[in-house]
Amino acid sequence: MPSSTVENYLKAILQLADGGGETPTVAVGQIATHLGLTPGTVTTMMKHLSKEGFIHYLPRRGVCLTPAGEKLGLQIVRRHRLIELFLVEVMQLDWAHVHEEAEVLEHVLSDRMVERIDEMLGRPAYDPHGEPIPDADGLLRRDDDLRALNDCGDERVRLVRVSRDDPPFLVWLQEHGLRPGASLEVVSRDPVGEILTLEVAGRPERVRISTSAAGTLWVKGTIPERRRGLA
Ligand SMILES: [Zn+2]
Repeated sequence: MPSSTVENYLKAILQLADGGGETPTVAVGQIATHLGLTPGTVTTMMKHLSKEGFIHYLPRRGVCLTPAGEKLGLQIVRRHRLIELFLVEVMQLDWAHVHEEAEVLEHVLSDRMVERIDEMLGRPAYDPHGEPIPDADGLLRRDDDLRALNDCGDERVRLVRVSRDDPPFLVWLQEHGLRPGASLEVVSRDPVGEILTLEVAGRPERVRISTSAAGTLWVKGTIPERRRGLA
């Protein structure tokens, strides 16, 4: 049975590869930064994961997951996201704090418990942060029509995903009504100070957010009339 450390590495590689464009190779340095470890520690682990058949390790270039590694990584992601949703929906825990709980529980709950959670929640497609939940066969939905908020013009959009999980940031978002499903509009941008000003539907106050923080918020736009016919 793979250890929780192995599972965390595979999950990290999977997540880093996802944002990596054409080639899913991930540099050892990226993994080290992501997990807060030294490159030496990560390199040792990469040799182990390679021997176990979970990754291809290409010295100096990085690593990529084998089908077995990807399958296990997606299983852990599925567990994590289902557990987060269960903690919010059923246990009524705060949205901002379920990530840390799920980081622990994803390694200890039995498969039977996880499948029961999936069933109880009606086989949900998204976690509380708007991230897609891989299905039981390990298929992960791709939402290609999402854009980062900092790439938006002055338009009304709907927040669908938050891809940053530190509690203070999530608490701050929550205080400003910025949870998945929120409707908002970029009303002005200050490119020098790197600040966007938002109007959130149903909120009296405007919200100022840095462009880097806005880069972790993913939105869907209302489709302009002229593009509808082409879709
Ligand atoms: Zn999480």
